[in-house]
Amino acid sequence: MPTPYGHVFAGGILYLLANRGAPRRADAGRILLYAGLAAAADLDLFLDLWVGEPGRFHHGISHSLGMAVLVGLGAAVATWKSGPSALGVFAAAFSLHTSHVLLDYLAVDTKEPFGLMALWPLSDAYYLSPVPVFLDVWRWPVSGEMVRHNVLAVVRETLILFPALAVLFYVRRRSGRNLSDPSFGGHAVPTGPAGEGRGDVE
Ligand SMILES: [Zn+2]
Repeated sequence: MPTPYGHVFAGGILYLLANRGAPRRADAGRILLYAGLAAAADLDLFLDLWVGEPGRFHHGISHSLGMAVLVGLGAAVATWKSGPSALGVFAAAFSLHTSHVLLDYLAVDTKEPFGLMALWPLSDAYYLSPVPVFLDVWRWPVSGEMVRHNVLAVVRETLILFPALAVLFYVRRRSGRNLSDPSFGGHAVPTGPAGEGRGDVE
């Protein structure tokens, strides 16, 4: 699995895809929400800690497209009466959870069972990319080698994900155009004289 930093990066990329205009200070809460949802699947590590059995839950059904659907439905239901498009909220939450599944699928995994239960509930099989893109995270034992490895993992994630984030940020800042389909969560708002309107996932 990539580091939480890598998942947060992916959440930032999806935020820029789903929302118009360059992020403002007022958007901080929503950006944190995107980042949190992109990284949330790894909360299953606490279940492993709870039962005292490493790997019992991690990379199981929490890391699947089926769970992404459940997260999307949960988000849509939770925001049902607060105004935003239910389809847009579902799409945003589903995409954020799926980004986590995709990044973990593309990462090195040295612990059995290798990979993740990506297609649950259609299949209980574990899937792992034959070509790793991201490094794994070393947690234990704490050592200089562990620190060096994890720093290298973060550097690699930055080199891979930062260009996409930077290009999207530039495009958003320059044009304010919404690259996403409105059904993803953005909604049209009147544009000003300079075409700087915004459409945010509410
Ligand atoms: Zn994960």
